[in-house]
Amino acid sequence: MPELPEVETVRRGVSRHYLGRKLLQLSVFGPRTVRRHDPGLLGALRGRTLCSVGRHGKYLLLGWDDGQVLVAHLRMSGQLLAAKPSEPLLLHTHAVLRFSGAGDLRFVDPRTFGEFFLAWTGSAPNSAGGARPPHGEDVASMAAEAQAMALPAELAGLGPDALDVGPAHLGAALAGRRAPLKALLVDQRVLAGVGNIYADEICFVARLRPDRPAGGLRPAELRRLAAATHSVLTNAIAAGGSTLSDQRYRDVLGEAGSYQFEHKVYGRAGQPCLSCGRPIERATIGAKSAYLCRRCQR
Ligand SMILES: [Zn+2]
Repeated sequence: MPELPEVETVRRGVSRHYLGRKLLQLSVFGPRTVRRHDPGLLGALRGRTLCSVGRHGKYLLLGWDDGQVLVAHLRMSGQLLAAKPSEPLLLHTHAVLRFSGAGDLRFVDPRTFGEFFLAWTGSAPNSAGGARPPHGEDVASMAAEAQAMALPAELAGLGPDALDVGPAHLGAALAGRRAPLKALLVDQRVLAGVGNIYADEICFVARLRPDRPAGGLRPAELRRLAAATHSVLTNAIAAGGSTLSDQRYRDVLGEAGSYQFEHKVYGRAGQPCLSCGRPIERATIGAKSAYLCRRCQR
């Protein structure tokens, strides 16, 4: 499933190619993609201009010049792909956004868990209304661009975006919790954006066992956890995310990410730890599996 780095990579692609463009047409095929409300409501976006492309955790937030927000979640297998209007639809295309002067943004999702829904942030639309912000690769400015928008009420139950948390938030969120550390790292109410892959990588870089009771971390360990969360996610974004052997994750232009080649533990059971040489183990923690090095992680 795409996690924060993959969704952020998609967000940057959508921003780069469609920001400031007018939506000519929005077509939805099949009942599952828009399931929280009448799909016909999306017709209201026709003629609107895309004026912001935000993200919170694994949710994409497409903001329009009338204050509406189209929220998208890729779930297990969703892809948002750029295409020319003349290109035939790929199998499992469930929605097409056609933009003036920029072609199509198509939602392809074989497993149909992904979804779109319309929301309002209650905040005034971006007065820049169609101006294109600079597209530097500076992580801080890109993160600010991703989160400039107020969150719709539908996402109010999510924790802070995982790129924004420091040791103080983690300490408060984990205090008193007896659940394993990994279970809380992937809990979107605690931290939005981390899933199976990056939780394992973060625990390894922080030198913490994923099955430690989350509430028992000392201040120095919380600082390591916060630093590892930031560095792992930032490095994964720089690599365009992780495309696993199923090849499902692709950016807007259909390119694979390369962070899978930098994974230190995820998917490496039996291979030597890159720090100490001991074989990486695959353990079961609660209902989840986790990859870890029992010598490097305490
Ligand atoms: Zn090791």
